[in-house]
Amino acid sequence: MKNLSIKLKITLWYTLFMTMLIIIILSLLISISNSRIISNAKDQLIKAVTQSITEIDYEDGYLEFEEDFNFLAKGVYLSVYDLEGTLLYGRTPPDFDHTVSFQREHVRKYSTNQSTWYLYDHLDSIEGYGDLWIRGISSQTQGDTAISVLLKLSLILLPIFVLCVALGGYSITRKTLLPLSKMTETTKRISSGNDLKTRIGLGKGKDEVHQLADTFDHMMDRLENAFENEKRFTADVSHELRTPVSVIITQCEYSLKKNQSKEEMNESLTIILDQSKNMSNLISQLLTLARTDHNQQQLHLETVNLSELCEVIVEEQSYHASERKITLKADITPNILMQADETMMMRLFINLISNSITYGKYGGETLVSLKINGNRIIGSVTDNGIGIKANQLDKIWERFYQVDPSRTSLKENGVGLGLPMVKWIVESHGGKVFVESVFGEGSTFSFEFYVN
Ligand code: ADP
Repeated sequence: MKNLSIKLKITLWYTLFMTMLIIIILSLLISISNSRIISNAKDQLIKAVTQSITEIDYEDGYLEFEEDFNFLAKGVYLSVYDLEGTLLYGRTPPDFDHTVSFQREHVRKYSTNQSTWYLYDHLDSIEGYGDLWIRGISSQTQGDTAISVLLKLSLILLPIFVLCVALGGYSITRKTLLPLSKMTETTKRISSGNDLKTRIGLGKGKDEVHQLADTFDHMMDRLENAFENEKRFTADVSHELRTPVSVIITQCEYSLKKNQSKEEMNESLTIILDQSKNMSNLISQLLTLARTDHNQQQLHLETVNLSELCEVIVEEQSYHASERKITLKADITPNILMQADETMMMRLFINLISNSITYGKYGGETLVSLKINGNRIIGSVTDNGIGIKANQLDKIWERFYQVDPSRTSLKENGVGLGLPMVKWIVESHGGKVFVESVFGEGSTFSFEFYVN
């Protein structure tokens, strides 16, 4: 049984069940109708006998049987006997034995070698003549014929019916379970070939199996995405680390091979130090992002004066802004307090403002704004720089995404991790982050926090 497929098990189970049910119902039906037919036959027998009495008269020393006396009415043989048992009138079945004794008012069974009969004897008195017996005989086979017809019919119909049930059921179960085999095949293909692109693709349908297949396909979409991201992430990280590492190696080889002056040594060491700092910075950013992925990055919440923090960072960044002749303006509502992680908030302002300087127009302007409106803290950084094309606006939040990496090199340690970090910081504080940009005209990055 264990080795049978589910469809076969289901089909076998209900076919067996249906067959048993039909057999039980049929036997009940046959037994009920059998007793009904028998009792009907008996009633008919009694009725025929009692009705016939009215058709007998005695006149002029003779018994007279009216024309209505039907000695073979509705399958009932009627015969009249005197008290000695001599047949006076009527008819009996050909193989019937006339010596069968009379019994009053009692339907009984009588069997000969060939057949079985019902007998009913009625003793009545005819005026002027005296007592006589009226005997009714009907064949038991009348009832049996109906039952046997019913039995024969069910013996032919039952197997056909069971066959239809089994075939129909099997085909429906097979159709229903077909997607499951498809799913098994797909899963096997995915696990054996590592092909994450394979989908079950059952199409539209609302039943449980379609839902399962749909959920599976969705899961595969997400898995494929996650794997792709993982692959891209690893490639990007290796790429970003390879440059500083190869610079360090080259510098070290160069310093070791030649007899260098102290100044040259110092220059090499400075380059090595810079590249090591870059790497260390990249590694720490990656670490933070990795922690955010596993929800391990803890926020140290405290009451932070966002306005003061923002002002300090604007002050700090104005030095970099002046290098590109960018005017850094600030419109900050004083004393905006918020429960936040101070270090993270610093990173948020630094990332947005430093981006606006890197990608701002040389000699342009950056406006940093921080306001409170009801229970919303709204901050924004607007520049009139290079802007971002509409089709790239979604992608800038992805890790390592850079619209133009050569442009980023203006920025210290820019590898496309700044905005993903901004997004995480805002969202982990329960806020939302937005970007509006017109390519060639400038961008506005804004965020909203909600205070209780
Ligand atoms: P990056 O280290 O490259 O600056 P970010 O994650 O901070 O990484 O930004 C991702 C990309 O978004 C950048 O490479 C840049 O193309 C684009 N971007 C970010 N800020 C701005 C801005 N203010 N104006 C125009 N483009 C921007």
